[in-house]
Amino acid sequence: MTGVNPFASAQQEIKRAVSRLGLHPAVYEVLKQPLRELTVVIPVEMDDGTVRVFTGYRVQHNSALGPAKGGIRFHPDVTLEEVKALAMWMTFKCAVVGLPYGGGKGGVVCNPKELSPGELERLSRGYVRAVAEILGPEKDIPAPDVYTNPRIMAWMMDEFSRYKGYNEFGVITGKPLIVGGSAGRNEATARGCAIVVREAAKMLGIPLAGATVAVQGFGNAGSIVARLLHEMGCRIVAVVDSTGGACNTAGMDPVKLREHKTKTGSVKGFPGSKPISSTELLTLDCDILVPAALENQITASVAGQVRAKIVAEAANGPTTPEGDRILNQKGIFVIPDILASAGGVTVSYFEWVQNNMGYYWTEEEVNRRLEEIMVRGFHEVVSMRKLGRGVDMRLAAYMVAVKRVAEAMEVRGWLG
Ligand code: GLU
Repeated sequence: MTGVNPFASAQQEIKRAVSRLGLHPAVYEVLKQPLRELTVVIPVEMDDGTVRVFTGYRVQHNSALGPAKGGIRFHPDVTLEEVKALAMWMTFKCAVVGLPYGGGKGGVVCNPKELSPGELERLSRGYVRAVAEILGPEKDIPAPDVYTNPRIMAWMMDEFSRYKGYNEFGVITGKPLIVGGSAGRNEATARGCAIVVREAAKMLGIPLAGATVAVQGFGNAGSIVARLLHEMGCRIVAVVDSTGGACNTAGMDPVKLREHKTKTGSVKGFPGSKPISSTELLTLDCDILVPAALENQITASVAGQVRAKIVAEAANGPTTPEGDRILNQKGIFVIPDILASAGGVTVSYFEWVQNNMGYYWTEEEVNRRLEEIMVRGFHEVVSMRKLGRGVDMRLAAYMVAVKRVAEAMEVRGWLG
């Protein structure tokens, strides 16, 4: 991580869009900070009988278009500034693809890899009890993010349902199928990313068959993007996770990579591969680079050496503002995070819709609707980009999103 504050980066992105759209300065004044921030203390009884006190956050950035929406991150490096940035990005991620949601995000400072299942469950339930008052299907709807998963969502939904006294499936998305989850949700972030990569490649005249791909991060987004792009004919030449990397220019089978990671805990040492560091991966000679890990990876110094033709940001905030300027100067086609990673929250929206009506769609139905939303979102951003000189894909995506949020605030009378 660099010293770049992700919240300051997020603010800069909004400011550029507001001024380029020529909107009233009040729009920026409202959007530059979250509507509400909550910090909570979560005492958890550990397996050895001691009590450890964890810190958690829930931030609601905006609710002009609908209830706040966004994941909960469990990570040792979580900070309030980071959660504020992530909440802000959610507002624009939902808006750019036209979902009826605002943006929110949560986080708990913890290392889930060091917690037993029982400790993790007590922490998850404790977090929900601490923030329950500001959650609800019409208020704020969490979901998984880095190091949280459907099992944790089930505990959280259950805890909230106990608090209410009835089943409230729609309070959280990314749940297991049996308790109101949606078909296709697990793959959705990756599927949305693969769809926009496909659209970009088509537009730029890059054939996907044989296109080389490097993926940073091998969690829910990265491992599945690798699989889907492989299915589209791409060659996966490098992957890294938080403990190491694997590179093979002849291409690697992502399903086997996943099995290797499940068995050994890492992608490193994959048969036939050479080790590769995260920075080497980001600067590798390849067609498509997918950052699918954390913020601030493509910094100014890394960006100068990036050789990919397309950068598809499956992670939130992987490129710093300075890094972004350099990628654009070099003519690299960047599919910005708020668009490239919008597939997850899109299927979260479908999950919530299904919970609200109590009727469930097939996976084909979910994927068909996801495809429609991602393709439309991509082309709306491309059209916005054509409108102005010097409008890159990120600025265009923010312009589409900020315009929608600003219009909602305007008609609601929030801007005076
Ligand atoms: N955490 C995911 C994201 O950053 C999903 C959020 C959601 O489904 O609400 O987009």
